[in-house]
Amino acid sequence: MIAQRSVNTRPELALRCALHSLGFRYRVNLPLPGLRRRRADVTFTRWRTAVFVQGCFWHACPEHLHAPKHNAEWWWNKLQHNARRDEDTDAYLVRLGWLPLRAWEHEAVEAAVSKVVEVLAHQGHPRAQEVQERSRRLLSAQPAGRAGSA
Ligand SMILES: [Zn+2]
Repeated sequence: MIAQRSVNTRPELALRCALHSLGFRYRVNLPLPGLRRRRADVTFTRWRTAVFVQGCFWHACPEHLHAPKHNAEWWWNKLQHNARRDEDTDAYLVRLGWLPLRAWEHEAVEAAVSKVVEVLAHQGHPRAQEVQERSRRLLSAQPAGRAGSA
């Protein structure tokens, strides 16, 4: 059986590794401010951004949602409870002026990275703004990407 709350899952490591190679620095598995029993996988404390990399099963991903057939009702309640707790955590963070960000284990690491970069850039993170600007320039420099030029 998989442990419900595991640290260093593969999608989490992939995201951390990609962010690190882009020059980002962050805290790992840090308790949330004021919620000692809940942790974010990747936290940018100064930029008030908390990233959660969620397993499709335990967090009831809408694309892969399923409850095991055995004890279905118990599982269903359990997974619903987890999803509600995630929503509750997000609402709490937003009230504190933080930005919660959730990535799914099924998501490509590039997609997760660009979500993180977008949020950080929005929060004023200079490195994120740089990365965003650089990838915009790269895209507009590609001959195949000329569709947008007028
Ligand atoms: Zn999924």
